[in-house]
Amino acid sequence: MPRPIHAVIHQPALANNLDVVRRYAPQSRIWAVVKANAYGHGIRRAFAGMRGTDGFGLLDLNEAVLLRDLGWQGPILLLEGFFQPQDVPLLEQYRLTTAIHCDEQLRMLEVARPRGPLAIQLKLNTGMNRLGFRPEAYRAAWERARGLSCVGSIVHMTHFSDADSARGIAHQIEAFDTATANLPGEASLSNSAAVLWHPQAHRAWVRPGVILYGASPTGIAADIADTGLQPAMSLHSELIAVQDLQPGDTVGYGSMFTADRPMRIGIVACGYADGYPRHAAGWGERPAPVLVDGTRTTLVGRVSMDMVCVDLTPCPKARVGSPVTLWGQGLPIDEVAAASGTVGYELMCALAMRVPCTVATLTTADATA
Ligand SMILES: *Cc1c(COP(=O)(O)O)cnc(C)c1O
Repeated sequence: MPRPIHAVIHQPALANNLDVVRRYAPQSRIWAVVKANAYGHGIRRAFAGMRGTDGFGLLDLNEAVLLRDLGWQGPILLLEGFFQPQDVPLLEQYRLTTAIHCDEQLRMLEVARPRGPLAIQLKLNTGMNRLGFRPEAYRAAWERARGLSCVGSIVHMTHFSDADSARGIAHQIEAFDTATANLPGEASLSNSAAVLWHPQAHRAWVRPGVILYGASPTGIAADIADTGLQPAMSLHSELIAVQDLQPGDTVGYGSMFTADRPMRIGIVACGYADGYPRHAAGWGERPAPVLVDGTRTTLVGRVSMDMVCVDLTPCPKARVGSPVTLWGQGLPIDEVAAASGTVGYELMCALAMRVPCTVATLTTADATA
């Protein structure tokens, strides 16, 4: 028998979450963001759940080629554009829409002189200060792109730094509208947080990522509790041992947890080498939550490479072989992330290669329900 850990990718949840985005942004077309191997879900596994989208957004040419191999004929957007002159012919070969965020990319197009027409998304830096032309340089960049015979449509694109937090997006929307005033072309602004909370930013295209996978843009599970989003990834394992502790006994590396009473703990086949966050606490004020036999309990002690330990006090019937849910399905990934000082994004992207994945498809009943 293989080690009992496995993940399930839920295609019906992906399809549901795409519908949720449509309900929030009914006037917009959707770039479903599948960078980082579909946020750890696997592009191949996620594709069938998301094929109702208008286009896919990603970073790697390899991922774009994979989508074409899977039969996707619609638009594909390279969110950071291309990196080298030799990438330019591939834009035509695979019919890719490309972001253009800097003069060097315009220069590569001028030198490579592809036939076109290429669809481009010209990136405006409205305050994130990672990629894009500054507002005062934007019109000149637009005119330079417009002047290239290979350039077809130009969409105006920017990215928000605070769509999920108190500062908000007003300053960036204002910078965007000022810099693009009197320039023709559609707009593409909204990440997941703006899809949910800033309808004034929806415009022609939206670019949701994390909400398609059913996690929260803020990293706080409660913030998406009433949206209808469903977790697209769940991580499961089993108890492989049970220990009876006496008062004063400690658990795991560094003896971070000390029993103050007789208690049973379970040992789960899942550790940081599976992508479970090592910083998840098994002591103190905010121990990480976990489900054993469907009952909520918490970690005890430190996460190790291949195992975590859990308190079996609320689940007295649990024994070796009892099912454990690490996240998804009844336990929001963001709650585990919050107990680990991170956000659900990071956990799903970090699911380890060694964890076998199964797919709950759109047609069969959920394999693990
Ligand atoms: C990753 C990314 C998104 C999606 O962000 P989420 O917060 O996951 O919705 C949108 N636009 C760009 C340019 C991105 O890089």
